[in-house]
Amino acid sequence: MGNKWDETNWDFYGCKRSYCLKIGIQSNGSKAAKCPLSNQSKTPEDYRMTRAIRFRKHRYQRKTCHTAGGNPGTSQGSKFGGVGKKSCINQKSSHNTRRFFLKKTMQKTKATLTRNTRLTHNIYELVYTLESPFLQMPIAGQYAMFQLAKGLNRAYSFADFHQNGFTLLIERIPEGKGSPILCDANIGDSFDIMLPLGHFVLQDNTKSKCFIGTGTGLVPLYCQIKNHLQKYANTKICFHFGVRTEDDIFYRDRIGAFTKNPNFKWQIYLSREQKPDYEHGYVTKWITKENVDNFEEFYICGSPEMVSDARKKLQEIGVEKSRVLWEQY
Ligand SMILES: Cc1cc2nc3c(=O)[nH]c(=O)nc-3n(C[C@H](O)[C@H](O)[C@H](O)COP(=O)(O)OP(=O)(O)OC[C@H]3O[C@@H](n4cnc5c(N)ncnc54)[C@H](O)[C@@H]3O)c2cc1C
Repeated sequence: MGNKWDETNWDFYGCKRSYCLKIGIQSNGSKAAKCPLSNQSKTPEDYRMTRAIRFRKHRYQRKTCHTAGGNPGTSQGSKFGGVGKKSCINQKSSHNTRRFFLKKTMQKTKATLTRNTRLTHNIYELVYTLESPFLQMPIAGQYAMFQLAKGLNRAYSFADFHQNGFTLLIERIPEGKGSPILCDANIGDSFDIMLPLGHFVLQDNTKSKCFIGTGTGLVPLYCQIKNHLQKYANTKICFHFGVRTEDDIFYRDRIGAFTKNPNFKWQIYLSREQKPDYEHGYVTKWITKENVDNFEEFYICGSPEMVSDARKKLQEIGVEKSRVLWEQY
């Protein structure tokens, strides 16, 4: 590997504070720069990299919440901003380096539709193959940005991904400009995309996790739960999923399959119907001090109203912001 940074081999998934220390961005201002893999240091290239990281760190220090579809103050932000989604990751400085590298690994390519399945009256499962494989595999919770036309960019979270492709679950909004194009596409249709993007990512730790989602907010949460259980099957996980009616439920089998693991529990909430086997009401009714005390991390994704309500309730109960990750659309 010589004295150079071998970025292609970095384990970004595990880019934790210890890595940050190794590459010398700690607050004491040390200029030490070491490759976390080789432990070699002090090439001019290393120092340039260290300076770049420190610059990013200061720039992002106060911007932990942002409008997704673009990072604040970057060219990406001006080009793809304004999709109306917010996300937040609260583990501030320890993740600034990760943000920097996540952006560096973003790629532009084409995705070709290989399967289109209608799951419910308005949810479609779309499977795509990439023209060029992922340069860096996404982290569960990230999304792809589709460039459907000039000025028409739409973001969709990965439900699943592998080296050469990914699966999306899209709600077809009849009056929408973007979702009908994707849901009505034919097998073989290709789209310009940018990926992987986003900071609402699964944290690589063994903490007990609670996932709360409504509608297509299930998509990144499903991906996160699946990835987490594959790696840490012994962690306690719960998932609370809210929809309006029984007809709106999708991926019931997929999520039901997780219950083979006794550490996984889930519950569906119907807000506009009362039926046996389901909780009636909003998904946020689960958020009580008694329930919340059993979990260390919270992942929330769905409509802005639900996300805001859930965050407010957690805050009132006294859950620290650093334990709550959220994304709304
Ligand atoms: C990071 C990110 C990840 C996302 N992941 C997914 C995903 O996995 N699956 C998915 O289906 N969507 C996802 N979205 C939402 C998606 O990007 C689009 O906003 C959505 O598909 C609507 O686009 P549209 O062009 O069809 O509608 P637009 O033309 O943007 O809107 C048309 C009308 O529909 C209304 N509308 C917009 N969104 C909704 C909605 N969700 N429900 C009801 N009415 C709505 C608007 O207010 C407007 O009146 C994600 C968004 C972001 C930012």
